[in-house]
Amino acid sequence: MFLLVILSCFLFSFVYTLSDHPILIVVSYDAFRYNFFNKNANPYMLKLRQHGTYAKYMNNVFPTKTFPNHHSIATGLYPESHGVIGNSYYDPVKKQLVKFGYEMFHYDDSIVPIWRLNEMAGRTRYSGSMMWPGGQFPYQGKNITHYQEFNPAIRWHKRIDTVISWLEDPEKPANLVMVYFEEPDTHGHAFGPESKTVFNLLQLLDNVTLYLEQQLELKGLTEKVDVIHLSDHGMTSVCPPHFIDIKKYLQPDTYKLAGSTPGLHIIPNEAYESEIYNLLTNASEIEGHFKVYSKYEIPSRWRFKNNRRVPPIFLLADEGYGFQDLAANAKEYAKKYNFTVTDKSQFGVHGYDNLIPDMRPFFMARGPSIKINHEVSPFDTVDLFSLFCAVLKLKCTTNDGSFENVEDILLPETGNNLLPIIVVIVGAVLLVLLLILCAAVVTLLIIKRQQNITTTAALNKRFPQNFSHSNIEAKHLLEPEDA
Ligand SMILES: [Zn+2]
Repeated sequence: MFLLVILSCFLFSFVYTLSDHPILIVVSYDAFRYNFFNKNANPYMLKLRQHGTYAKYMNNVFPTKTFPNHHSIATGLYPESHGVIGNSYYDPVKKQLVKFGYEMFHYDDSIVPIWRLNEMAGRTRYSGSMMWPGGQFPYQGKNITHYQEFNPAIRWHKRIDTVISWLEDPEKPANLVMVYFEEPDTHGHAFGPESKTVFNLLQLLDNVTLYLEQQLELKGLTEKVDVIHLSDHGMTSVCPPHFIDIKKYLQPDTYKLAGSTPGLHIIPNEAYESEIYNLLTNASEIEGHFKVYSKYEIPSRWRFKNNRRVPPIFLLADEGYGFQDLAANAKEYAKKYNFTVTDKSQFGVHGYDNLIPDMRPFFMARGPSIKINHEVSPFDTVDLFSLFCAVLKLKCTTNDGSFENVEDILLPETGNNLLPIIVVIVGAVLLVLLLILCAAVVTLLIIKRQQNITTTAALNKRFPQNFSHSNIEAKHLLEPEDA
């Protein structure tokens, strides 16, 4: 009995610290290409996706770079709407180069990322960002409740421990946590996506995915928490003979340069725009393997060009090619990881046209809201926002995605509400049975009492002398004491 009391107290305190709202964890693995699963480095993740729903790939946003895609995942908007148009850009109003920071993610402060929308929907809804790009900044003047800024020195398993502790926070239990892993991107750039190094990292990521599921199971959260695993983009290989130096075609001090391979931003100084455009067009014909766009020639399907941060001239390398900034990166990687660059060295690059298969990210999900052993057609990265809103039971803000494209991932709504209905029906049936039982008992008692009276009356009639004494006693009891 004592043990039962202790166990009940433990269970009560455990349930008490978990959020009452739907709980969602979104995990992003930077540059995990959709077909990396074919490398057989991720047996657990492959098994996990059979336990839930997956798409072969997602259609991500252009440019297929980290910050634009992570912010599209978080907001459901294309880069021309949320303004994170690259990993760096030149701001024509402030006349300065902007890199990762508050300003990059605040093109328009009315834009609400999913973690902010979650917290706006109720005072007991709390969000967390474990290194999610842009997650550490305030939006609408409010910081996210739980966050850890990017710090690659923090071990992956430790990050998961922290995420679980946020879910169980006694005062502010999180019901949405965005988690970011910087691999296989970081080492993929230096060693190429087909390297043994990337293979080993994929195995480690498989291990940390297993660890997350084990921790959820250990805490009894597997059936309470939906988990979405995804990536921002893929990666392809580029070798040094495919590095193109466009600087040699231009006069120094006539332009500014932003962006990075394979998308370069050219900001000509005043009066140089047409001259520079012509020089680069000629260079493109000589070198081949890259395209030159004036801002207005940029394809509309990228949903990229209609933003003041997009430069007057934009260069995009063909798949497998890059620009002179790669030569500088290669030098740094060789020094950092102690290897020699040769013509056959392979470096990892992403940022190309989002129609190129190697740029595709993956998607899989499992949990109480997610269909089991199910595959859906590829959908758009911007559709994820509607999916998050549906899982978290939030009213979506206006976005560029479509819920119809992701609806098939979720179990029917009635399924989610079945349990409370069953509880009410079972409760009502039990109550009716109890009332019937009480009525039966009362009826039986009345019948029995009636039978006793009848029997006594009959006996009195037949043997009156036997009951005279008790009749006198009964009469005495009815008389007042002072009578
Ligand atoms: Zn990335």
